[in-house]
Amino acid sequence: MMDTPLTLVSLIERAEKYFSKKEVISRTHTGIQHFTYEEIGKRTRALASALKKLGVEKGDRVGTFAWNHHRHLEAYFAAPSMGAVLHTINIRLSPEHLTYIINHAEDKVLLIDIDLLPLIERVKDELTSVKAFIVMSDEKELPESTLSPLYSYEQLVSDGDENFEYATDIDENDPAGMCYTSATTGKPKGVVYTHRGIFLHSMALSMADTAAISESDRVMPVVPMFHANAWGMPFVSTMLGATQVLPGPMMTPQIIAEMIDKYDVTISAGVPTIWLGLLQELEKGIYDTSHLRAILCGGSAAPKSMIRSYETDFNIPFIHAYGMTETTPIVTLARLKSYQTDLSEEERLDIRSRQGTVVPGLDIKVVDENGDEVEADGEAMGELLIRGPWIADEYYKDDRTKDAFKDGWLYTGDVVTIDNEGSIKIVDRMGDLIKSGGEWISSVDLENTLMAHPAIFEAAVIAVPDPKWQERPVACVVLKPDKLATEAEVLKFLEPQFAKWWLPDKVVFMKEIPKTSVGKFLKRDLREIVNK
Ligand code: AMP
Repeated sequence: MMDTPLTLVSLIERAEKYFSKKEVISRTHTGIQHFTYEEIGKRTRALASALKKLGVEKGDRVGTFAWNHHRHLEAYFAAPSMGAVLHTINIRLSPEHLTYIINHAEDKVLLIDIDLLPLIERVKDELTSVKAFIVMSDEKELPESTLSPLYSYEQLVSDGDENFEYATDIDENDPAGMCYTSATTGKPKGVVYTHRGIFLHSMALSMADTAAISESDRVMPVVPMFHANAWGMPFVSTMLGATQVLPGPMMTPQIIAEMIDKYDVTISAGVPTIWLGLLQELEKGIYDTSHLRAILCGGSAAPKSMIRSYETDFNIPFIHAYGMTETTPIVTLARLKSYQTDLSEEERLDIRSRQGTVVPGLDIKVVDENGDEVEADGEAMGELLIRGPWIADEYYKDDRTKDAFKDGWLYTGDVVTIDNEGSIKIVDRMGDLIKSGGEWISSVDLENTLMAHPAIFEAAVIAVPDPKWQERPVACVVLKPDKLATEAEVLKFLEPQFAKWWLPDKVVFMKEIPKTSVGKFLKRDLREIVNK
């Protein structure tokens, strides 16, 4: 058959050609703006022409430092479609890591949101490769800044060529994007996405048995566009001509709820922290969420109690999914099989709160420390290994490649069980499992149960050293506003559900649980706080 390349050019050109009237709704610093794909298409070509004029060549990295909005979407397609590589930079990194990844990726141009300029200004003297800075703002006028040379995004787009021809020499295995992922220790690690990988990932997300994204959807990625390509939402939505609702800077639960309501969002995606926050907002009872057909949740384990609340209290279907920056990211997704729909509500919820079954196109296996596959009995634990066409095969120019990529498999560092239906359940990250008296305790299981307590907003469980048992669990708990609970009450709540030796030795009440730059519990910091 024909060996036509699978590139991102075909995605944006399809939207321009067949869905020119469909909309991208974008919240920026000044308000809401509406664009058609025809307009987005022209602006994207104009941006690509401007990048070319600034000296960006095939294979060069174009960094973005931005929230979720239409300009970021345009950059998502302009850079790869002219043969360059879109490097989405996490806006919450420390100055040290920020400098490291910009220099390591050798970004030639940086596109920066106006409110984030000070973060780049702070590190500008350390940057070794950047030749031009572009400020993304609704104004053409340049703001005061110490960055130089500094260009206005809107000026470049209005001076650019809206008929610019995209590159025709792109190989499907050429890099299209890159994203750095935080390491437990040391510098962030770079992951490169190919055109082919993102293309196939977009196809995977549109399957009826996965996220089923379609033209009729109104898609709102709350997951940041700097985190694993907002889980591929901007790519698949453009490919299908779906309406995109981009929620812009400073997404509070109120803004998210308002946008879901006002723009009839049908599917949204984000980490559990976001959905826990939104749940409280929805309790006000003032929002219409009736168009939501799915909330896609991943990045950390979704507590069963939260899934239940969304579905029973608000009639919002909830889909739990799993992936990593290294995997573009979708790997598994929890859906009921047709013969499971008659199970009891509790059994169905149990299945759907697991991380789920691998999506078509990928292979997984779960291995013990000898590399042998563990029993698929839902009990035996092992490390999850993944391979497939949208799974990275190395870290960009990084020695740590050899630790994670072996024999054609990605070693995820996630400890899971797999049941006889092929559904996986994450037990812990390798370093977060608690070993007490030689037996494993899953912090994730304890956390999920704690978060079902009516007074608890968030909970993270960590290991603390213990002279007798090696390690013992300690629960760190944030209570809901105006709710009270004592340590004894919390432990009593856990008692019926766990073996006695699983129960935390202590419950530490906190105002907030420290989080990583992408909203996951920062257990390293938590251990320091608790062990102090
Ligand atoms: P990141 O690359 O920042 O997206 O982080 C990937 C890691 O997040 C995985 O290796 C898992 O440890 C964790 N993760 C992602 N999705 C889930 C999920 N649904 N449940 C539990 N952990 C998850």
